[in-house]
Amino acid sequence: MSTQAAHPSLLIPGPIEITDEVAQSMSYYAQSHVGQPFVNVFGETLTLLRDLFQTKNPGSQPFVIAGSGTLGWDLVAANLVEPGEDVLVLHSGYFADSFADCLSTYGAKPTQLKAPIGDRPQLPEIEAALKAKKYKAVTVTHVDTSTGVLSHIQPLADLIRKVSPDTLLVVDGVCSVGAEELHFDNMAIDVALTASQKAIGCPPGLSIMMVSEKAMNVFKSRKSPPGSYYASFKNWVPIMQNYEAKKPSYFATPPTQLVQALNTALKQLLSQPIAARVAQHQKISKYVKSEIMKMGLKQLPIDPANAANTMTAIYLPEGLTPPEILPKLMAQGVVFAGGLHKEIAARYIRFGHMGVTAMDESRGEIDKALNALKSGLAEIEKAKN
Ligand SMILES: *Cc1c(COP(=O)(O)O)cnc(C)c1O
Repeated sequence: MSTQAAHPSLLIPGPIEITDEVAQSMSYYAQSHVGQPFVNVFGETLTLLRDLFQTKNPGSQPFVIAGSGTLGWDLVAANLVEPGEDVLVLHSGYFADSFADCLSTYGAKPTQLKAPIGDRPQLPEIEAALKAKKYKAVTVTHVDTSTGVLSHIQPLADLIRKVSPDTLLVVDGVCSVGAEELHFDNMAIDVALTASQKAIGCPPGLSIMMVSEKAMNVFKSRKSPPGSYYASFKNWVPIMQNYEAKKPSYFATPPTQLVQALNTALKQLLSQPIAARVAQHQKISKYVKSEIMKMGLKQLPIDPANAANTMTAIYLPEGLTPPEILPKLMAQGVVFAGGLHKEIAARYIRFGHMGVTAMDESRGEIDKALNALKSGLAEIEKAKN
């Protein structure tokens, strides 16, 4: 029996369901943020992130900062790009528009390479773009949560190394880190950013990021100061390094209970090899997608090879809108999300199947959700006839 109050299954693409242990860590007693017990937990958490992102290079720099996933964009824009510099933003949905907007806010010049809805930019066009102009960074959304499109990082990383080796590879992994294949060192990633509430399975409130040694050197050789105060590496790097060395340090107060919860979530996540966790997400995703297909419903990703394993974006039958079906799911204890991509928001719904929902099949949440969708659609069909 769960120690959490009975509640509908939260099956949206983040926040996701949390384990009892993580929930209990959220009610940890009050601690000083500079007292040794908390400093030890924060320090250990930062070190655990090296395992999560799969980096063995001691020059890689982990960050955990109070804020949501969005803060990761500000950290990149304020510290790794200088005003006037060009950034190539690979667009596979809503989140690229927002990242580009954030970059512009700090004076960078984003160029978006847009794919049709349900697709992602292709390597030949990315190569042409990289040859046409010098880009400080390329950003890619690993899983675009608005479309459920998965971008493949390894071939992109190989292309950048070949065509424009100085360009930084920035991965928005907010809906992927901890569940999709992402190997910081092997893929030569410069920034991987995520948030606590998605595939990691912690409540919302933490921006989590790994920055490569190369990107840290780019930061150190900036000509202009960072364009933010709260999001400045200058302020945070010493703090992160001190905490990881188990030394108390202060710039701005960390959310102590959330850090306890992240520590618990990471220990649970890393209790088995990451490859096994990724494989389990792939298995569940394959099952969900084949069941959705059997219901006669289409999915947003045009090519199944471009479909995320953390979520499924499902087109509703012609004429049906999310406000008609979502309450039917809720009545059966299942929370899905509506559409997010502006052009088609009224035509689809999103099913997040990551973290404990995918890892612990005994919870039965996947079949509960599929059955709720099936019977909800049947009910609407019946009412029409
Ligand atoms: C959720 C999400 C974000 C934004 O994260 P917040 O925690 O809502 O600020 C950014 N990128 C992607 C891909 C996301 O899924």
